[in-house]
Amino acid sequence: MISNDRKRVRRGKILKELELTPVWRVRERTEDESPSRVLESDQVMVAPVVAHPEFEEQVEQVCVPSADTTEDVAEKRRAMILRMEWDQLKESVEGCVACRLCNSRTRTVFGVGDLEADWLYVGEGPGAQEDALGEPFVGQAGKLLDNMLMAIGLKRGRDVFIANIVKCRPPGNREPSDDEAQCCEPYLARQIELIKPRLIVALGKTAARNLLNTDASIGSLRGKLHQHEGIPVIVTYHPAYLLRTLVAKAKAWEDLCFAQSTMQALKAPE
Ligand code: URA
Repeated sequence: MISNDRKRVRRGKILKELELTPVWRVRERTEDESPSRVLESDQVMVAPVVAHPEFEEQVEQVCVPSADTTEDVAEKRRAMILRMEWDQLKESVEGCVACRLCNSRTRTVFGVGDLEADWLYVGEGPGAQEDALGEPFVGQAGKLLDNMLMAIGLKRGRDVFIANIVKCRPPGNREPSDDEAQCCEPYLARQIELIKPRLIVALGKTAARNLLNTDASIGSLRGKLHQHEGIPVIVTYHPAYLLRTLVAKAKAWEDLCFAQSTMQALKAPE
């Protein structure tokens, strides 16, 4: 049996590790506070407190917000993530409990590839195989993506980094919701800052919507050069869509050629 004091010290350590202590304070739960007030399974928690099994113990206590609003907490979390270096960022993703997707994931999918790549490919979120293996685009869509890369002389891991809008699998392969994408946004933002890619290729609607902040169709976004935080972005179809819609492959090929010529122009000396 672990004594209450030891439990309290452990909880304190966990909160400190999560850098929640300046933002949250721990108090004992009062008689009339039901556990449901503490943990709603479909609730989004900007501050990771009790959504993950390893923090189950904390259900015995309630973490109440200090004077900070939800926006303040999200801002602080974002600012903290934007200061992380690779190792810390990876660890933070692995332990992330910031949204409901942590409840159903097997593994987080950080992204893979050259940390100084010129090319960044961004998909939607892990599927079942990615969730099992912890690597993006390893299923059928991934094989097609590898072939698409090969067609323009690229290879996974060599001058390319592959990431997703969300790092955890949305159950049943549904699209990530806006609030889930929002919770995960600082991670991709930091990856982009660290990699400093010359060109981003957005694969499909979710990637385009979140990177470009638009609801426009892929059809209307393709063939143009967009910008994300000053970095050129090209939009093309998601490989999973291409597997279902063979006629779109010719358009995807045009997009790849456009991406290749854009990269050549970006690398060309002034
Ligand atoms: N689809 C995606 O968008 N990302 C993956 O990693 C796998 C499938």
